[in-house]
Amino acid sequence: MHMADKARGLWKTPAIEVLRARPGQRIAELDCGSTPGFVGGKSDGLALFEERGTVLSSLQEKLYANGRSGDSRSVLLVLQGMDTAGKGGMVRHVIGHVDPQGVDHASFGVPTPEEKGHHFLWRIDKALPRGGQLGVFDRSHYEDVLVVRVHDLVPEEIWSGRYDEINQFEKELVAGGTTLVKVAMFVSLDEQKSRLLERLERRDKYWKYNPSDVDERRLWPAYQDAYQAMLDETSTDYAPWYVVPCDRKWYSRIAVTELLIDALEKLDLDWPPAAFDIEAEKRRLAES
Ligand code: ADP
Repeated sequence: MHMADKARGLWKTPAIEVLRARPGQRIAELDCGSTPGFVGGKSDGLALFEERGTVLSSLQEKLYANGRSGDSRSVLLVLQGMDTAGKGGMVRHVIGHVDPQGVDHASFGVPTPEEKGHHFLWRIDKALPRGGQLGVFDRSHYEDVLVVRVHDLVPEEIWSGRYDEINQFEKELVAGGTTLVKVAMFVSLDEQKSRLLERLERRDKYWKYNPSDVDERRLWPAYQDAYQAMLDETSTDYAPWYVVPCDRKWYSRIAVTELLIDALEKLDLDWPPAAFDIEAEKRRLAES
């Protein structure tokens, strides 16, 4: 069976449709252990992940090749999620399928004193992918309406205006040739607890543990409200959110792989034509 057919067979509804944020969708009701649209189990998922990783890699190579030939288009994956949702693993495994030369990775932590002196989109703007690149944001400008809102880091009249600012910013980004793939990753409270416990029980995971993660768990309802508002206010036609249940890592990874494949396929990329006379070059090479 052709690979694309097999993928289509296991995805009863394509990820791009089933995961797209819907108006009125309630995050509080999301089943984080579910596998929307996918009819296979874990072993199907893992096998498919490798197959589709190859497809992703070849599409990304085309994007890169076109970028080298002057195409200014790019794709930007935005990952937002609670601690332990699996952002790091998403980068390692999904983006791990593609050539690192073509990846512009950026992560956003607590703003530095310099960043604090600028508009919240300043550091984002500087990190945008160049033409031909697959950009990856591990956290993003959305922190400025999530952690900032939950912790009252700026007054409400400031953060509440940011949804419109973000929409405007993204509209211009898309008009400039960047396809945004915005992924909101959700893990259940129980699964988060067991992932945090694992970090406390394994020597190779201590480095991932941060005592403040436990304090953040107490703020779960406030975060849920902030994520809900983010989805309600910033899921647009030109830059929709995809809501990905993340308790099963194998599922979230194949889902995001499909979202990226879809974004790249829509660019309708071909290999760039030779910028030289092929026959003449063959002759020159033979004579050399
Ligand atoms: P991670 O927790 O993803 O491994 P870090 O240790 O760098 O990465 O932590 C990122 C932290 O920075 C998170 O707690 C996040 O909420 C915080 N952060 C990111 N952006 C902002 C922001 N604009 N304002 C305040 N805190 C932020």
